[in-house]
Amino acid sequence: MKILVVNAGSSSLKYQLFDMDEGKVLAKGNCERIGIDGLVTHKCPGKEDYKSAAELPDHRAAIKLVLSLLTDEKLGVLKGVEEIDAVGHRVAHGGEKLRQSSVLGEEEIKYLETIVELNPLHGPPAISGFKACKEVMPNITHVGVFDTSYYSDIQDYAYIYPIPYELYEQYKVRRYGFHGTSHRYVAGKAAELLGNKNAKIITCHLGNGSSITATVNGKAVDTSMGFTPQDGVPMGTRSGALDPTVVPFLIKKLGITAEEAEKLINSKSGLLGVSGISSDCRDVGEAAANGNYRAQLALKILVHNVKKIIGSYVAEMNGVDALVFTAGIGENDRQLREDVCKEMSYLGIEIDEAYNKSCARGEIADITKQGAKVKTFVIPTNEEFMIASDTQILAKK
Ligand code: ADP
Repeated sequence: MKILVVNAGSSSLKYQLFDMDEGKVLAKGNCERIGIDGLVTHKCPGKEDYKSAAELPDHRAAIKLVLSLLTDEKLGVLKGVEEIDAVGHRVAHGGEKLRQSSVLGEEEIKYLETIVELNPLHGPPAISGFKACKEVMPNITHVGVFDTSYYSDIQDYAYIYPIPYELYEQYKVRRYGFHGTSHRYVAGKAAELLGNKNAKIITCHLGNGSSITATVNGKAVDTSMGFTPQDGVPMGTRSGALDPTVVPFLIKKLGITAEEAEKLINSKSGLLGVSGISSDCRDVGEAAANGNYRAQLALKILVHNVKKIIGSYVAEMNGVDALVFTAGIGENDRQLREDVCKEMSYLGIEIDEAYNKSCARGEIADITKQGAKVKTFVIPTNEEFMIASDTQILAKK
């Protein structure tokens, strides 16, 4: 079965074509700068990479280009579009109704349109990406895989905010959680490695956007992101959790609008805001190593907050069997992993520092110190594969 996975952003459309029978990626790429000046990159193992400027006025043009590249005699891997059996769409927000990966039909799209307000950045491109794909591939199954659905089973006391309850009823203001597909994938792998599907697992997805999730019995019980991806640990440019009154204070003090304040905590904060250097952890790490105080501080704040959330989830679950690091920073930044795990022996978390420094990147690594009570793993995430497998299951039904 061949499955195309599509991840449509506001000005990009990333894709991967999977051969599920062979368990491999046949091609992948990205259409960028959609609606601006258009750029496409396309890679197939064993073939030369392709990168070119392209006319990409909208997502429809992008998906047409992707299909023409996939079926191109020289660059492609398919004889025809009909070889694609199903399409899996990454959708950031499934609201309260789309609680699991679902075949996308008219009813589902109508519902997604009603919740665009909850997801103004990613909702519209996901819907237009789907519509474009459906138009050019009308006769196959299209599946939506939602970042929020992993959190569908968390308890009301973990998702209801302590504000007037009517605001939840009326406006659906609550914790939703994001990055669920990544947490589900790595928590599943960790449970496999432990040989225990009932395990208590804390997964740290630390990238440009970061979140931490607690999983018990294969189900998420809590997560650090909330109503939006703004909550939780500090990120590349997002502040993470803040005393909420900081925002109205700044609105008054700086004479800015609510939108400008949102931009301040969303795009100018986090590693970038504290360091004043960059949102990229590598740049901040380099400056910190060269003695830059604010870069050092930015990283200390990140580590401090990651530790705090790990500790709170251990308390919430009454224990932990495994701690997992994933995504750009979690998979690659050895120093950060060491700093997070330092002085957590009380909780049973201890890592083999030498192996943590030397383990291969891009592979699963067990960095647990011999004899430690809790396993610590590095597990490369693979959201696209998770989307493809959900799509395969639903397309077969
Ligand atoms: P996104 O949330 O955009 O998917 P990624 O998961 O790709 O982000 O993570 C991006 C982050 O990972 C950046 O802060 C980057 O600096 C960091 N990163 C990537 N490679 C390394 C590395 N070798 N060492 C430290 N940090 C890294």
